[in-house]
Formats: sequence, structure tokens, C-alpha cells
Amino acid sequence: MYYLFSHLDRIKDIIKNKPLFLLLDYDGTLTPIRKTPHAAIIHSEAKSILRAILKNENIKLAIISGRSLKDIKKIVGIKKICYFGNHGFEFEDASGKRTTFVPLYYKKIMAGIKSILKKKIYSIKGVLLEDKGFTLSLHYRLVKANDVRKVNDILFWLFKEKRLKKNIQINYGKKVFEIKPRFAWNKGKAAAYLLKRSKKERGFMPIYIGDDITDEDAFCALKSKGITVCVGKNKGSHARYYLNDTGEVLKFLKIILGVKRGQ
Ligand SMILES: [Mg+2]
Repeated sequence: MYYLFSHLDRIKDIIKNKPLFLLLDYDGTLTPIRKTPHAAIIHSEAKSILRAILKNENIKLAIISGRSLKDIKKIVGIKKICYFGNHGFEFEDASGKRTTFVPLYYKKIMAGIKSILKKKIYSIKGVLLEDKGFTLSLHYRLVKANDVRKVNDILFWLFKEKRLKKNIQINYGKKVFEIKPRFAWNKGKAAAYLLKRSKKERGFMPIYIGDDITDEDAFCALKSKGITVCVGKNKGSHARYYLNDTGEVLKFLKIILGVKRGQ
């Protein structure tokens, strides 16, 4: 894994003459992670960079988030971007056309798990259960250190329950457990789908930037096709490059824009 700004000249050379497809995670990538998901509001500077990128005909843009599609669209607040919600399970293209990549019956399964979890977690202070339709997020950032074990125990129980286990998978994110349908779809497959979607988009080189475990699927899928960037130096990451924080991500996005504008 290399520090991206130490290889900037090479990267500039690579991207100079190619149309680009920018695929960006949101939380921890475009905005710092906050105590609660509602507090992670997009900075006006990030928003104006995204708007400028959208206007450039040599760059396509997609946001791929673990949030629900409705939530990520609302919090970014820019029209005519491709949005993936729920770790790629839900998709809306730039014209507003929606596709779902997971069978609808999973919504009912997840609703059942939600009601079980609600009863189990209600006595733990600070835990936040976020219902995103197709997936559930159990945030424990605000849980006291002594109580984190209780959250772990609940998840462990959930995963061992035979009738539930066959339908769900659990990912461990940054102070969050992501409970998802056991279905072969992830951010990597979502990114690959997007790149193959139309003949015209096949020539676009992907640049994927993300910070968390769910982004690793995309790093693996795109490593040989484009530029993969992990936010935070994570030795185990499959990304080729890393940046230190969200501020450096914005700096890199500005550089990309400058290169494509011929500056
Ligand atoms: Mg993230």
C-alpha cells in the first residue's frame, strides 16, 4: 500500500488522457465519521467539488454507501449522480431509474430480525439500531466500554441462531455491526455492474475511494482496472493507495478535477 501523494505525478499521468469513473463511499470518505449517522453532514466544500465534477464530461460520478438509498440521496443532496444505497443493494442512476439487486422478501426477514434485536438491546445505553430496509446497522460508538461486550454477545447469539444464520451475514465496521442479507452482492459487484452498464461507460477508468471493511470488496474488484484508495493506512487493505483523512480525499478530488480541466 502506497501513500497516494508520494506517487501523484504518476497518477496524474495515468488519469490525464482517460475518462474517469469516480466511485466514492460517503461516511469516513467524503465526511468524517461522527458520533451518530445523522451528524455526518456533508461539508459545503465537498459538495461544491462534487458539483464541479458532475459538470465535467470526462468524469462520471457515483456514491456507494452503506446508508439506505433514501438517506444517502438526502444527505448528499445533489441530483443527477448515480447512487448506491445499502452497500450496493439499491441503485438509482443519474436519470432517477431504480434497480434493486436483492430479492424483496429480505425486507420482511430483516424486519423480523429488527424486532428481535430491539427487545435484546433496549437495556444497553447508547446503542443505536438503524433500520435501512434491506440492512440493519447496530451502532455502538456511544456505548460505554463495559457494555460493548453485551452488544457483542447479542450479535454472537444472532449469528448462531440456525433459522436466522441462513439468511443473514454480519460485517464489522467502524463501531458498527452491519447485518445484511446472505446474498452474493456487495460494493465490489455493484461497482463492476456500474462500469459494465453501458458500452459507453466501459472505457471509463475507475477510481474508488472508501474507508471501511465493506469497501474492500470494491478494492479487490477494481484493483487491476483502476486506482483504489483507502482512507486511513490500513495494512490489511486491498487498496493500492491510501490517504490519511477526508481532508486529503477532498484535496485529491480537486487535483483530479484540475488534471481533467487541463490545469
Ligand atoms: Mg465509509
